[in-house]
Amino acid sequence: MGNPKLGISNDNRPMHYSVGAIIKNEDKYLLIDRKSPPYGFAGLAGHVDENEEPVQALYREVYEESSLSVLNPRLLLEEEVHDNTCKRGIDIHYWYLYECDVEGDVNRNPKEAKSIGYYTKEEIIGFFRKDRLEPVWEHWFRNLGII
Ligand SMILES: [Zn+2]
Repeated sequence: MGNPKLGISNDNRPMHYSVGAIIKNEDKYLLIDRKSPPYGFAGLAGHVDENEEPVQALYREVYEESSLSVLNPRLLLEEEVHDNTCKRGIDIHYWYLYECDVEGDVNRNPKEAKSIGYYTKEEIIGFFRKDRLEPVWEHWFRNLGII
């Protein structure tokens, strides 16, 4: 694992850069049940490393977490998110959220995920009601009108 690219937030605090992937199969979304903090069901995601462009991080992280190859990445939004702490202790992340197509077969990475699978909107709402959606994904699923 490389070192996450470090930046400075709008309020002059240390910040990492991260990418997230919205991956759909018909009306279902690919999520993992995260094995490390922040816990909960989340899309595939990870840090942008030093000397890496966001889209390169997207290809790398999706492959590491699922064995899938990214096709046709489309940037949906980018934003600075506060109170979003990673296991390295940085609490601000500048996110690039992509939607993308994929090819290959889904394989769980046992270091990253307790489970991996495609879930319907109703199942995602169920995770939200049980407080099992990772907060930043709850934020995006809400903003995108999915929950
Ligand atoms: Zn971080």
